[in-house]
Amino acid sequence: METKVLPADEHSLALAKQLIFSGEVVAFHTETVYGLGADARNDDAVKKVFAVKGRPSDNPLIAHVHRDYDISSLIDGEPPYAEKLRKAFLPGPLTMVYPSTGKVSRFVSCGLNTLSIRVPSSPTAQAFLRAVNIPIVAPSANLSKHVSPVSAQHVYDDFAGKIPLILDGGVCTGGIESTVLDCTGDVPQILRAGLVTREMIAEVAGDCGVYVMHEGERPKSPGMMYKHYSPRCRTAYFERDAVLGAVQKYREEESAGGVPYFLCSDADAERLPDFRVLNLGAMPEQMAARLYAALREGEKKATLIVAIRPEGEGGVMDGVLNRLTRACRGN
Ligand code: AMP
Ligand code: MG
Repeated sequence: METKVLPADEHSLALAKQLIFSGEVVAFHTETVYGLGADARNDDAVKKVFAVKGRPSDNPLIAHVHRDYDISSLIDGEPPYAEKLRKAFLPGPLTMVYPSTGKVSRFVSCGLNTLSIRVPSSPTAQAFLRAVNIPIVAPSANLSKHVSPVSAQHVYDDFAGKIPLILDGGVCTGGIESTVLDCTGDVPQILRAGLVTREMIAEVAGDCGVYVMHEGERPKSPGMMYKHYSPRCRTAYFERDAVLGAVQKYREEESAGGVPYFLCSDADAERLPDFRVLNLGAMPEQMAARLYAALREGEKKATLIVAIRPEGEGGVMDGVLNRLTRACRGN
């Protein structure tokens, strides 16, 4: 199969629509990472998404709709805070989990009685979703466990010959996946940290919890269990008080004939002038935007990525640290 990479225009959107309605998958740009989209109502199309990615069948998918789409038939009511959050943050990098009416394929939610909804803001995503005018399920457009894609080239690297079309909207400016927010309880609860932060949500909703999985408990979101975002080279992760250990790890790799790279903030890179570095930048937003591209660049040229935890916590840093540790720790 030829994989076309096209900007969203009249021709490519007509093709995307035809592919989606014939049960195919189409990758598309969003402001967070590229998505691998399919008709949410079509069992076989949804199953194809899992198959193409190699995604575990118990890890649910997010339904994407355009900004004027009426979601009332998909969700079984919403608490007052959720309406406020929608008005404040959508379209944007926030996914909201609602009680489901079961109007989409049962394979979307993997047996959960909830449905997650996202309204991406990227013009490419909006044009695509408007053209099809149906809910599109889409996980990140990477092979399962691999680093999420932030350019059409990244998608192509994982799926060339396996999907018919990538709608190219350029580099994703957000860089990490959407915040996933459980809106089924009295207080919204973050299931996955992202660019819409706990602080931002609490300001609008009055309060915001963060879900922490306890030992032996069935996770609220199965995706939490899996190893994620991993580059194809070896990795190591060091806390800020263990930078000497990081330098030692780097030196050992070099002595053994390997090619190590540090993955660290701009401030740490300045303290490591004589080393090879994948620089994440200075601000948390910049680190989010650069992280996946840095990991994909690293896996091409490094035998070992030695990550050093950047300074700071809270806000966007929570999302950055979540992805960085999942990618580099215990690997
Ligand atoms: P991906 O787009 O590949 O990063 O994956 C989407 C993620 O959204 C999943 O891994 C889950 O963590 C989360 N998610 C999707 N649907 C639900 C749901 N109904 N309940 C809880 N979490 C969900
Ligand atoms: Mg993913």
